[in-house]
Amino acid sequence: MINIGKNIETYLPPEILALVKAAGEIGAARCQKVYLVGGAVRDLLLKRPNLDLDLVVEGDALALARQLAKGRDGKLVTHPRFGTATFSQDAFSLDLVTARSETYAEPAALPTVKQGNIQEDLFRRDFSINAMAASVEPGRFGDLVDPYGGKNDLDRHLVRVLHQRSFKDDPTRVWRAIRYEQRLGFRLEFDTTGLLRRDSAIMDRVSGDRLRHELERILEEDCPEKVFYRAERLGVLRHLHPALEGNGWLGEHFDRAREARGSLKPDGNLYLVMMAWRLDDEALKSFVERLKFGAEAARVLKDIPTLKRALPGLTAVGLKPSGVYYLLERHRPETIQAAVLVTDSALVRQRLELYLSTLRFVETSLSGDDLKKMGVAEGKRMGALLKALKEARLNGEVKTREAERKLVRKWLAKGIC
Ligand code: ATP
Ligand code: MG
Repeated sequence: MINIGKNIETYLPPEILALVKAAGEIGAARCQKVYLVGGAVRDLLLKRPNLDLDLVVEGDALALARQLAKGRDGKLVTHPRFGTATFSQDAFSLDLVTARSETYAEPAALPTVKQGNIQEDLFRRDFSINAMAASVEPGRFGDLVDPYGGKNDLDRHLVRVLHQRSFKDDPTRVWRAIRYEQRLGFRLEFDTTGLLRRDSAIMDRVSGDRLRHELERILEEDCPEKVFYRAERLGVLRHLHPALEGNGWLGEHFDRAREARGSLKPDGNLYLVMMAWRLDDEALKSFVERLKFGAEAARVLKDIPTLKRALPGLTAVGLKPSGVYYLLERHRPETIQAAVLVTDSALVRQRLELYLSTLRFVETSLSGDDLKKMGVAEGKRMGALLKALKEARLNGEVKTREAERKLVRKWLAKGIC
């Protein structure tokens, strides 16, 4: 019997460890077995940090979670319909789930769920490396439950499904498989690769929401492009969208995004815009529809074709800052940021950056009210004056409130505007 108690004690921060041990003790008092499962066990074995902890309870996880939360600071959220609870303290959260078995009535459908034991609960999981549990019961703390050879696959760097129907049951596992393979530097096991190729088309039956969720998780990886390359080579990228390409262009530009952000991870939307940058209008439209993007992401994506059409205007000789501003003011900063990384023209890049860093924040110091006090009546003329004033600000012709006032007085005296 393998025991990973030492790993758990070494790699979990003390306050989280105390909570996990308390859950085991409460479970023992209630005659319920409690296990740490899934990604946390995998990452503890790999000595990789992971504070996304899942506990499985053989029995009522909700009652145990309530008892655990009693007298402790933190927030408990329960989902009685699913038999799950989340207890969160400042920086981390602990999910507690009732052990269950799942069966699929038809491919890509949502599963039928029944209460079960730990073996059944592990069998519903995606890959052997994610289908291990470690007891947190006092007396057998850290004992590894590994019915499907997860530890062996972890040692051999393999991502392996638990049975032949796995991808049929849940085609989102295709994306999960490639994500783990690329994140961990593993390989898809031989039969798993065959099954993945055989069943990936069933992904077309998965809802847009579920598919988008997988895409969002890929974009959170350190190097998302690796997942897309591999998906392309496996012939499954087309199930995300037929017009997407996973070639070197993506890696080069994602790299630029990372460099531009220093040590910070680029925002998911930035990667998304770069991914969609080369799609034509039709493909972009169907990509947005298929993946049911939220309003914000959809707006940023739909801005790509119009921004692309505006870019040649930025090469004009002698274009003033106000000209740059007018070309870009209706576009989304995230889309413009992507254009900075994608354009081959140094001049265009420089002007896009000028807009992002400065021009988009420019405001006149004088307001309509101020102009009113200077004798300007509300209406078209005032609008024209404010616009002219902003243009002067954008072009650096005025820099202070006093200079603005002077300029307006000059215009009024000359009858301009
Ligand atoms: P990550 O580090 O990416 O969060 P994880 O292993 O923690 O990896 P989660 O998506 O947080 O993955 O899910 C937790 C666990 O639930 C997984 O380890 C796996 O056992 C199981 N699981 C999640 N999604 C599926 C799925 N689609 N099919 C089967 N099991 C799944
Ligand atoms: Mg997780």
